[in-house]
Amino acid sequence: MKKVAIVGAGIVGATTAYYLSKEADVEVTVYDHGLGQATKAAAGIISPWFSKRRNKAWYKMARLGADFYVDLLNDLQESGQEVDFYQRWGVFLLKKDESKLEELYQLALQRKVESPLIGELAILDQATASNLFPGLEGFERLLYASGGARVDGQLLVTHLLEASQVKVIKDRVTIIPVSSGYQIGNQIFDQVVLATGAWLGDILEPLGYEVDVRPQKGQLRDYQVPQDMGAYPVVMPEGEWDLIPFPDGKLSLGATHENDMGFDLAVDENLLQQMAEAASSFYPILKDAMISGERVGIRAYTSDFSPFFGQVPNLSGVFVASGLGSSGLTTGPIIGYHLAQMLQGKSGVLDPADYPTERYIKQKQT
Ligand SMILES: Cc1cc2nc3c(=O)[nH]c(=O)nc-3n(C[C@H](O)[C@H](O)[C@H](O)COP(=O)(O)OP(=O)(O)OC[C@H]3O[C@@H](n4cnc5c(N)ncnc54)[C@H](O)[C@@H]3O)c2cc1C
Repeated sequence: MKKVAIVGAGIVGATTAYYLSKEADVEVTVYDHGLGQATKAAAGIISPWFSKRRNKAWYKMARLGADFYVDLLNDLQESGQEVDFYQRWGVFLLKKDESKLEELYQLALQRKVESPLIGELAILDQATASNLFPGLEGFERLLYASGGARVDGQLLVTHLLEASQVKVIKDRVTIIPVSSGYQIGNQIFDQVVLATGAWLGDILEPLGYEVDVRPQKGQLRDYQVPQDMGAYPVVMPEGEWDLIPFPDGKLSLGATHENDMGFDLAVDENLLQQMAEAASSFYPILKDAMISGERVGIRAYTSDFSPFFGQVPNLSGVFVASGLGSSGLTTGPIIGYHLAQMLQGKSGVLDPADYPTERYIKQKQT
């Protein structure tokens, strides 16, 4: 029986645990500290097709990551789990300069050829848009794509870990290379997966590595509204804030992108209030809506904003994924699936050479 440790139970670690737990000859243990986890603070928008980023490897991962949810939903259903964490009710894209909507529409039409999941595309006037999202105003036209989805990251992780039936230990851990593998606490493992998000440096630097992963603070506000917004699309205007409606009257507003706050987890009411005021001019109901909570999470970023996954250079049996940035709920499951494949010596649709670990993890010069 092969013993595998997964450090980190965000979306990457939990998906890796789920797919590894399907293998008969593998025993998986998950360690997770949980504080500041990006996955449970995330807004949850799955809509990569409108990005203007030129990074082709990233876009391939993001579009296939959105598609991968279809497989994940089937797999989790077969494992007896509910798929209440995912809804596909479309996305609204707003532009300050509405003449740019046509350009975005054409880009989306081209991308639909390889990503039919994008669904129906249309430029809607305000009256038509309000049928789908009553009360939304402050624009004349917007772009609608029916395939946009939203995910409750925390709920997804709960289902993945439940279906895996793996042991989860709530602890912050370090790894020590020993002759027979890697030691965590008093256990020895044959293989280790570092799914530690923004905290990758903490675990690899003591082992002599320099890690190009930096923290970005993200804050989000949750509201409880009287109406069930379960079938409303996600709203993505230009700028910081997005509106993410969920079933049962939950509505999220977020998120901030703060590069200079390190691992700070304090709620900044001023920033959240500024976001709420900007959003209220498009959705005035927010002004009187009940605030039900605020969330803070730390995203992991690399210097070129690219995610990476694969083997840690010169540390045989240790695998890693990090740098998922603002789109990690989109790319996390497909990365977790690939890590589980790699540990079994198998491959998937993504080529790890396009997301090389050695670009971001280097041995310190002595
Ligand atoms: C506010 C916000 C909004 C976002 N919105 C979206 C969105 O709309 N769409 C989208 O696609 N993405 C979004 N993201 C990005 C996405 O949430 C992240 O990229 C993704 O969740 C990262 O997953 P991860 O598993 O790599 O890391 P994380 O979810 O951060 O998990 C890492 C885990 O490892 C644990 N850990 C670290 N070191 C140790 C250790 N030594 N011992 C034990 N445990 C350890 C941490 O405690 C943590 O629980 C958002 C992020 C934030 C913060």
